[in-house]
Parts: sequence; structure tokens; C-alpha cells
Amino acid sequence: MINMVLFGTKLIFVPGTEVEFAANICDDAVNMLRKFIIVPGTKKDTMQYKNPHHKKRKNTHALEVSCGKCKMPVAIYQKAGKGNLIKMLVSRVVEAEVDLENLEGHLSCPQCGLELARKGKHENKLAFWIIRGKINYKRLDNYPL
Ligand SMILES: [Zn+2]
Repeated sequence: MINMVLFGTKLIFVPGTEVEFAANICDDAVNMLRKFIIVPGTKKDTMQYKNPHHKKRKNTHALEVSCGKCKMPVAIYQKAGKGNLIKMLVSRVVEAEVDLENLEGHLSCPQCGLELARKGKHENKLAFWIIRGKINYKRLDNYPL
């Protein structure tokens, strides 16, 4: 697939070519295009483990969860609501660098080894409880959930 990014009315193919769209492009067309937009570094299939049971849910957004120390992205999480990230339900992890479903023990950064989250349960479902201050996360508005 071709990587491309939509900036306003400009469609930029990565790498190299840049195609300028007609300034009067209608919103519907832009929205239609957004479904196909892949921002480099945020596209699917970049991490080791995919969650085959992942489904799109309403009122959720994608979060890139990374190590607070070495900054390595560790997981893409489908987050509901506006609050801070307290835990990651394994069923809501879209993809990750670690096989969370079969991980024994706590979640550590695969790159620097920092302990990031503790394995546990939430409403009887497998979850990883974030250790305060050990992770960074950012919203990925262009990630195709
Ligand atoms: Zn790290």
C-alpha cells in the first residue's frame, strides 16, 4: 500500500511526490479519503502481535502506548472515554510488541526492560495495570481502527 498523508487539501505521497487537490474538494470526499490514509509509523502491521479478536467500537480512539524511559512504542490501544489511561484490557489492545495474552508476569519494555504495567484482572478480564509515570501515550487520530 502507498503511504500518504492528507494535510488540509494536499495529499502527500510518501516518499516524494506531492499532489495538490482542488481547493474546493468537498468534505465528503475528504472524509472518504481519510479512510485510506495511513500515516507513516502508525499503520497497522508494524508491531509483532496483532489481536485477531479486535473489533471497532463506538466512541473509542487509538492510543499509542510507549515506554516512558526509552520511548519505544509498545502497544496500540483502543481507548474509550476521555480519562487517563489506568489499565489496558488485553481485549482492547489492537497490536503490541509483546504477546500480552500469553505473557507471564508483568509487562516490561522490550527495549530497555523498564517495568511498565502489572498483570491483573478487570471485571474478570485480563488487564495490565499501568505503573504510574512509567508510560507515555498519545492519541493517534489517523490510525485506522
Ligand atoms: Zn523502554
